[in-house]
Amino acid sequence: MGALFPPLGVIYPLKSMRDSTKIIRSSLTPAVPGEPLHSGPVFAAPYHTPGDPSEAPYTYARSHNPTWTELERAIGQMESSSESGSDRGPGYQASALVFASGMAACTAVFGAVLRPGDAVVLPSNAYFATRVLVQEYFTKMGIELRTAPTANNAQAALLDGAKLLWLESPSNPTMEICDISALCEAAHRAGALVAVDNTTSTPLGQRPLALGADFSIASDAKSMTGHSDILLGHVAVRNPELRAKIDQWRTLTGGVLGPMEAWLGLRSIATLPLRLQRSCENAQRIAEFLTTRPEVESVLYPGLPTHPGHAIAAGQMRYFGAVLSFVLRDRAAAETFLSKSKLLTEATSFGGITTTAERRARWGGDAVSEGFIRMSAGCEAVEDLIEDMAQALDAVQ
Ligand SMILES: *Cc1c(COP(=O)(O)O)cnc(C)c1O
Repeated sequence: MGALFPPLGVIYPLKSMRDSTKIIRSSLTPAVPGEPLHSGPVFAAPYHTPGDPSEAPYTYARSHNPTWTELERAIGQMESSSESGSDRGPGYQASALVFASGMAACTAVFGAVLRPGDAVVLPSNAYFATRVLVQEYFTKMGIELRTAPTANNAQAALLDGAKLLWLESPSNPTMEICDISALCEAAHRAGALVAVDNTTSTPLGQRPLALGADFSIASDAKSMTGHSDILLGHVAVRNPELRAKIDQWRTLTGGVLGPMEAWLGLRSIATLPLRLQRSCENAQRIAEFLTTRPEVESVLYPGLPTHPGHAIAAGQMRYFGAVLSFVLRDRAAAETFLSKSKLLTEATSFGGITTTAERRARWGGDAVSEGFIRMSAGCEAVEDLIEDMAQALDAVQ
């Protein structure tokens, strides 16, 4: 299978290994005495290209870079599925393409797939920038936009004649869940391709391609790299023709990932299994704690058995994620809580090793109440976080 996707030169027999082993070993260099264990970033614009350029693995850095290749190999491994693994269905080899940001990755899929007259079905609660991008630009180029909420698989009703179904589960920040396999089957029956924005889960938490999607997309600035210091994104596919289209879009539009960010990304994802496990355990403990507090009107986390999407989430996710949301009475309650907390860093985005929280309504754009807080559990000791949140909630009256 590996031969389908240049430049995936698989060097280790990783297929049968577990995720942590695969990820940590995927960027190890061959054991040449005196060579470093891992390569550094490769800074280049043109590469030496004597004679026939088709014989040079790298020619010009808008098309390819060896540091991307390493990162893409590592992400491709995560997005792939082995027959022996716990995913549904037969094993497959995925191929990943890296981008300068999550939005560059999303735009590549819309741009490569949609043509005038096509219809795209988005979640009505999709990531804000995704919604605005389609509304402000793609609809003005003759694309029809249809929207329905993530919950209750409501997007299934809009598939007739559609070209692309776009899913986000869990949705952000309201944490709604849809059944990805069921929606992929319905979309494929209707002749539509399916893209899943898998940013909140990462491919270790949920593998959209194994659930039937054609594209797995993410902003890797969030949980995937987890240090709140770089922007990057990726698109993963199983089909070589779709890969070629996305690759061509990236080369022609040219807003590509720099080698330094690619290298930082590669360093960061080696610890994803550790970070994800810790932050998701913390999120679960915090969600359970919040349900015991009278100041909290509701807690939205798919790991809670009371969450309406819990059963579906448990069937398709291996971790319920680091992000949770909860609702305090009003704006004043939320602002008091955030200002009294000493450990919750007030910032947007999510998925970092540092626990962050924010009152979402301060941005406008999301259909949430004034007291709605989105929180991203980090990797601190959860007892400290809970103690801190308890004293901050005590101050909310
Ligand atoms: C952050 C985010 C994006 C956009 O990613 P950037 O790297 O900021 O461009 C897209 N989708 C979701 C769900 C996100 O959270």
